[in-house]
Amino acid sequence: MLAHQVEKINESTWRINEFNLVNAFLLEGKKNSALIDTGCGLGEIDKCVKEITDKMLYVLLTHSHPDHAGGVYHFKSLPIYMNSDDDSLKLWGMRTDNGFRRMYIETRGPRLYDGEIRNLYSLIPNDNPDCTSFDYINIDDGSIIDLGERTLECIHTPGHTDGSICFLDRKNRLLFSGDTINRSIILMRQPDNSTKLIKIFHDSLLKIWKHEKEFDSLIIGHGNPILEKSIIKDYIKITDGLLSGSLRGSYEESGFRKGDVIRHGNAELWYQCDS
Ligand SMILES: [Zn+2]
Repeated sequence: MLAHQVEKINESTWRINEFNLVNAFLLEGKKNSALIDTGCGLGEIDKCVKEITDKMLYVLLTHSHPDHAGGVYHFKSLPIYMNSDDDSLKLWGMRTDNGFRRMYIETRGPRLYDGEIRNLYSLIPNDNPDCTSFDYINIDDGSIIDLGERTLECIHTPGHTDGSICFLDRKNRLLFSGDTINRSIILMRQPDNSTKLIKIFHDSLLKIWKHEKEFDSLIIGHGNPILEKSIIKDYIKITDGLLSGSLRGSYEESGFRKGDVIRHGNAELWYQCDS
């Protein structure tokens, strides 16, 4: 079976690349290890993890979107951590089963995967595991995951989803930001195009930026995983401008993204996004 691609970010941190569709990360401390996100559930990410570490594993979710939580079925006997505001995927109107996995390959595969697309379809699990709901332990602002001489502090950063969490790894000066911050952020369209969600996201950006002296790089959920933290300032500039009315984006369609988009510096924000 086609295996996930693994690359080292530093001595104790690995990127697990799920076929260029989405990233998961494995972190080791002295005592325990953590898997941040689980991919969409294609192939055998659990085997991949076991080849890297045999330490006790915590499974941490940056958010419950199915491309990040779709692999939790591999880890149901382990402690899974998530913010309860992301509790139900009913919120997103999509189920995390093979219907989703197929749709994800169909819509993202041709643009992102550089091999034969039929190889991805062959990784769809036979027993159609559904990760729409699962048991988890709630994490919130200030929750600490202790890996032994390496801790992760949870920062609740609603915007992309209500329960999005960033994980601050002070020892390695990294912030694992999931889809809260990456190269192209999606905020769903709001009724009446209200700016409420932009304000929520703006506040999350400011909250992250308060920790600015404690990390150098962002480790993100899609694509090349390492991003300069200065992009946060670009996003703050955008949200500031949208909220004050001094900036306005325009409607575009690009791949699976459809909605109002605005760009500044290295940042791209889809802020009234339909899909
Ligand atoms: Zn997401």
